Amino acid sequence: KNDSRGGYAFYAQAMGSEFSQHMDLEMDLRRALSKEEFAVYYQPQFDTTNRRIVGIEALLRWQHPERGMLYPDSFIPLAEEIDLISRITLWVLDATTAQMRQWMDAGIAPPRLAVNLSALDLKHTTIVDETIQTLQRHGVPGNRLELEITETLIAQDITRATHHLTALSHHGINIAIDDFGTGYSSLNYLHRLPIHTLKIDRSFVRDIAPERNERSVIDAIIVMAHGFNLKVIAEGVETEAQRDWLEQRNCHTMQGYLFSRPLPVQDIEELLRASQADQENPGLIQANRH
Ligand code: C2E
Ligand code: MG
Ligand code: MG
Ligand code: MG
Repeated sequence: KNDSRGGYAFYAQAMGSEFSQHMDLEMDLRRALSKEEFAVYYQPQFDTTNRRIVGIEALLRWQHPERGMLYPDSFIPLAEEIDLISRITLWVLDATTAQMRQWMDAGIAPPRLAVNLSALDLKHTTIVDETIQTLQRHGVPGNRLELEITETLIAQDITRATHHLTALSHHGINIAIDDFGTGYSSLNYLHRLPIHTLKIDRSFVRDIAPERNERSVIDAIIVMAHGFNLKVIAEGVETEAQRDWLEQRNCHTMQGYLFSRPLPVQDIEELLRASQADQENPGLIQANRH
């Protein structure tokens, strides 16, 4: 008994500042929601054949009063650990759905808005009802929403995942598999689940070597997506060479710094207005097509 206490004291001391920093961040995170320190950034997804915005992904940011802007990888794992993630998810869903409604009213809405779910969100049975209620509260139809989930989540509890995802898709909500190819991919769930989109993980896009011509994981994903009648989107596209390579392989939906970084709301609205102007002028789009 004594030994284990001694062990703990040693551990706490050794971890010293790291340990207390974690505690600080935990308290800050618990307060962040009520203090309205979260913000959503928006990154457009483009159809490269006509340069139209086909969707927008919502990416969470935390404006920490002392530490400045924090990115999700630095606080989402903590939020999951302390069971705060579902409240954050609901906040993001509410904020982005309200935003979508405003864009619809202004006539500049993108076809779809993508929101990331955490692996823990689908464990709660309430996620389905709460998502539907949020959409209804703001008068946004289900087919305007795409939920991005990862493979790990599905593999962990396939029965529950199937149940929730089916219920969501009955309301027209689209399901995308995020970071596809990095987790526990199974051909089995691809046709069993109501999935609409595969997002090719950034790591594969980064490794594209245009000068080499051998088959790659991306080739396999694109062929598979088309075979299962799924949409496929490449994330993390940063260079024209990557874009061209993907286009040659019939992947025409892309997201990445080459097109736009995630933007605060005012900036994405500017882009949406410009994109809307394009759509009202078919001649212009025709001219840009090839
Ligand atoms: P993700 O869903 O795979 O999002 C893509 C990440 O790649 C984003 O990082 C985005 O800013 C970044 N990115 C986009 N284009 C490029 C590019 O061309 N090059 C590079 N190097 N990066 C690019 P971010 O915003 O830091 O988000 C990281 C992850 O945090 C997301 O990965 C997602 O899994 C999670 N996340 C973001 N927002 C939320 C949220 O509201 N809820 C939950 N549960 N998770 C979120
Ligand atoms: Mg995502
Ligand atoms: Mg991703
Ligand atoms: Mg990711």
